[in-house]
Amino acid sequence: MHRSEEDYLKAIYEISVNTESNLVKSVDVAETLGFTVQSVNEKIKRLDSKGYVNFIPYKGVELTKKGLEESIRMVRAHRIWEVFLMEKLGYSWHEVHEEAEDLEHAASDKLIERIYNLIGRPKYCGHGNPIPSFDGKIENIYKKSLFEFDLGNNFILKRVFDNKKLLIDLNKKDIKINDEFNVLSKNDKVIIIVKNNIEYTITNNQSKMLFGD
Ligand SMILES: [Zn+2]
Repeated sequence: MHRSEEDYLKAIYEISVNTESNLVKSVDVAETLGFTVQSVNEKIKRLDSKGYVNFIPYKGVELTKKGLEESIRMVRAHRIWEVFLMEKLGYSWHEVHEEAEDLEHAASDKLIERIYNLIGRPKYCGHGNPIPSFDGKIENIYKKSLFEFDLGNNFILKRVFDNKKLLIDLNKKDIKINDEFNVLSKNDKVIIIVKNNIEYTITNNQSKMLFGD
């Protein structure tokens, strides 16, 4: 399987998990991967002919059992590498995505499982995305964004978008997964959250990329 095909399967899987729908629209795949809908549809037809997806014109695409297994293998490898890089090699959460993109295609299942055991069989990557098991079981995915929290609510950060600019900004603010805040104020531009008497100003745009409990 070509690397680009693996990336397509991974993108389809991730969109499907996030939208809680087996059927994924080509336009969403195109947006995720940064390609045109036309080129995405061509690639999807090729994946269909190889048995990885079912392409339903004008409706979308869904993973077959074979495609699902392959995409879980890639997502799993990606997130295990991310944890390894952060915990064992001192990488920051904004640096691991690109390395993991390369490594996920290179490692054997055996190597991935050795690393998985070495890092203590974690349930989530450093961005708070669940690491699926081979049978497709995944932990809870936190989907309520900070933007949706009301004044006075407590907000525990559980998941962040893997967006480099956002992650670097969170580093500067020293905001981490599992940090607990209170929502102090909201307006049409920003949300102010507070932790240990320190106030943090989060733009509304950013608050839609932070998810919690
Ligand atoms: Zn991650």
